[in-house]
Amino acid sequence: MQNNRIAIVGAGVAGIALAIVATKLGYQVTLYERDTEVSSIGAGVTLWPNAMFVLQQMGLDKEIIAMGGVPSYMRQFDQYGVQQGELNIAAVNDLSGYPSVTILRCDLMRILARALADLGVNIQFNCLITTADINGLKQKFDLVVGADGRMNSIVRHALYPEQVQPRYQGFINIIGISQLEGSVLNNAIHDYRGMGERFGIVPIKTGECYWAAGWSANMDKERPVSAWYQELQQRFLHWPNPVQQVLKSSETNSLKLIFVHDIDPLPYWHRDNMLIIGDAAHAPLPTSGQGACQALEDAWHLAQGLVKNDQLDNTLSDFYQQRIPKATATQSVGRQLAQQLFSDSFASQAPIASISPKRLSEFWMQGLTLQ
Ligand SMILES: Cc1cc2nc3c(=O)[nH]c(=O)nc-3n(C[C@H](O)[C@H](O)[C@H](O)COP(=O)(O)OP(=O)(O)OC[C@H]3O[C@@H](n4cnc5c(N)ncnc54)[C@H](O)[C@@H]3O)c2cc1C
Repeated sequence: MQNNRIAIVGAGVAGIALAIVATKLGYQVTLYERDTEVSSIGAGVTLWPNAMFVLQQMGLDKEIIAMGGVPSYMRQFDQYGVQQGELNIAAVNDLSGYPSVTILRCDLMRILARALADLGVNIQFNCLITTADINGLKQKFDLVVGADGRMNSIVRHALYPEQVQPRYQGFINIIGISQLEGSVLNNAIHDYRGMGERFGIVPIKTGECYWAAGWSANMDKERPVSAWYQELQQRFLHWPNPVQQVLKSSETNSLKLIFVHDIDPLPYWHRDNMLIIGDAAHAPLPTSGQGACQALEDAWHLAQGLVKNDQLDNTLSDFYQQRIPKATATQSVGRQLAQQLFSDSFASQAPIASISPKRLSEFWMQGLTLQ
């Protein structure tokens, strides 16, 4: 891109990551965030090797690893605690050349925000961008990037005035952070599955974990949140010990109820000098485990494209052509797994062991090469 002023709407993973890589490449970035601070809502994330590739390019991998955990396995159990399958994460890491790191979301966001501040860029907090602001931004900046999330992206709305409706996928998640005594998890992600129910526990540092419980449910926003939390306790009352420990020791203020939505793949992500990235463009379900990873990939690919190409229109169409297959495949993997998990029958459930480390590594690392 010849001129170099970029406005980014939304200081989530995608927005801050793009601000960092673009600033490093010499662009003048202004980052608008509606909240008063960087959000830490959302328990934790697993940064698979594709995300760690990008974080290494950003110079943040060591700090992330120091704050996070590096699990060796993902083990799948039934609701009685009988192991059903296993994924050797260490093997995936070896094949990919990058580790998989689990981290609390507040730590990830703090590291990203500090890296941006170190580059001299201040996030413009308390700046809710509205539809009425978009034209002004388009005139003032060479590029306007919507990194404003899955549910109500204002930049997506400017691209699709007919509205893109996020799709409720028929299940809820309750997420939280807990302290565990000893090494109950033995450095393995634990994935317990029952009929239409799932409880995943992700170790971070010794004794610390984040978790997500899910079950199929109608989207009832009238029901008090406390009733959902009571249901959580009831549903998983007889599930194996780590689940019990996690529920007993959960930090109350870390709990969050989510009616899980994704969006259908979109036919375009840009028009004029306006583009959407991250969840605003291709929000996958949490069952893909890839939302933040794909947001990081977007930031990296877009910055590379901006430097390589003088014509903005070409850069933005190339970006879409490059990113849409992987983003769509990720969305589709998330939907397939959600369907298996939250349908009422075990018949269609595929054990995770059926995915080889090689296939997984090839899928995740696709498109990530240094030039
Ligand atoms: C339960 C759960 C578990 C998950 N686990 C994982 C995981 O293990 N690994 C993984 O990779 N991903 C995971 N994800 C997905 C991941 O959290 C998201 O995909 C990722 O955070 C998307 O980042 P983003 O920057 O695109 O959007 P967001 O994080 O939603 O950020 C959008 C930002 O834009 C701001 N904003 C919105 N509108 C405006 C406006 N009009 N003006 C100004 N600012 C605005 C918001 O305040 C927010 O700060 C999980 C998601 C869920 C729900």
